[in-house]
Amino acid sequence: MTDFELRQGVLHCEDVPLPAIADAVGTPVYVYSTATVQRRAREFKMAVAALENPLVAFAVKANPNAAILAILAGEGFGADVVSGGEYRRARAAGVKASKIVFSGVGKTADEMAGALEGGLFQFNVESRDEAEMLSSVAVSMGRRAPISFRINPDVAAGTHAKISTGSAQDKFGINAAEAVAAFNRASKLPGIEAQGVAIHIGSQLTSLEPLELAFSRLGELIDQLRRAGHQISVADLGGGLGISYDATKPAPPSPASYGALVERVAQRWGVQLLFEPGRLIVGDAGVLLTEVIRLKNGANHPFVIVDAAMNDLMRPTLYEAWHEIEAVTPRGDRMVADIVGPVCESGDTFARARQSDRVEAGDLMVIRTAGAYAATMGSSYNSRPLAAEVLVNGSDWTVVRERQDVEALIRGDIIPTWIKPV
Ligand SMILES: *Cc1c(COP(=O)(O)O)cnc(C)c1O
Repeated sequence: MTDFELRQGVLHCEDVPLPAIADAVGTPVYVYSTATVQRRAREFKMAVAALENPLVAFAVKANPNAAILAILAGEGFGADVVSGGEYRRARAAGVKASKIVFSGVGKTADEMAGALEGGLFQFNVESRDEAEMLSSVAVSMGRRAPISFRINPDVAAGTHAKISTGSAQDKFGINAAEAVAAFNRASKLPGIEAQGVAIHIGSQLTSLEPLELAFSRLGELIDQLRRAGHQISVADLGGGLGISYDATKPAPPSPASYGALVERVAQRWGVQLLFEPGRLIVGDAGVLLTEVIRLKNGANHPFVIVDAAMNDLMRPTLYEAWHEIEAVTPRGDRMVADIVGPVCESGDTFARARQSDRVEAGDLMVIRTAGAYAATMGSSYNSRPLAAEVLVNGSDWTVVRERQDVEALIRGDIIPTWIKPV
């Protein structure tokens, strides 16, 4: 079930009719459901509840809005951050320092120092050089940095190449054959406390098989590291479980079956297990609400030109991603159309030859499943201001991010004094 349903012919988010939000805030606007975020968070917690003391760290990059992070902090979630900026946003939204994992292949010394200063659960370190740098940063601050080494398990995730992260040719992690040497070296670094291993093989996984293979390789590696004399008390299994974008396709595995897999494969490891779900928690908690500007004839079928564009939602052009698109007040008849934005690129296409509700200029539409990797990837390309974001809670709603002001865009540029005004 979702919290975006038709009631008396009008699409609502929880108890709020979407036209009310469009009237007050304008379009395009992202609309998020508190109830969905909470339900997904609780489903995930339930799925891993049989494990001892699991730590669920929401992957902030999926949706870094402070309101979303605050809901999840309230559900006991930690945060998986991949930059100093995400670290600060998570802390500012109320995520406990002791529940923050710092991932990413290119952490700088400044980012390391910032997170050490503020505190965290661990860094997921991706190379031996990174461990050396982190050690010297920590020593200079009189601290020791808790780390896990991110392992590249060399597993094909079976997802889009741009979001596959666990194959040998991907930039992420150290290969399993190097892991013992990395731990040996780390045990001699004065600023490092190596406590575990981590993996994250990719995003929008629609099968458990690659996860099972990666988990079992990680289990073997833990045995091997222990035999080499290392204490392993943490295993971070990453995120990646997919969600349903297209209801006509088979649904991805449920959080419960994912949890059962983890129990079967990882419970005997005798470690604290960490999870970093992102998309799964917020993906279907958001829609992008947009207004039809006009229709235009095309060679085969009409173009529906909406006021949202690739700068607001990049997934279709970046990943060839499929999003359900529908009218907010459907008239009951259908049309085949290309649904496109106003940006001057042919890639600014949300759907091609799509069977959709018949719409006219001025109608509202939603692009569904836009809660993850959506607003946060927005840009002001074509000098289009970043879209507003709204959070609904029952019959209440509030703007949780103001629409960007074009004046602010203009003010941000500086014309050098040597260019004479005309
Ligand atoms: C992006 C990312 C995640 C979250 O992936 P989802 O597919 O959104 O669950 C988790 N861990 C790391 C290290 C990531 O980079």
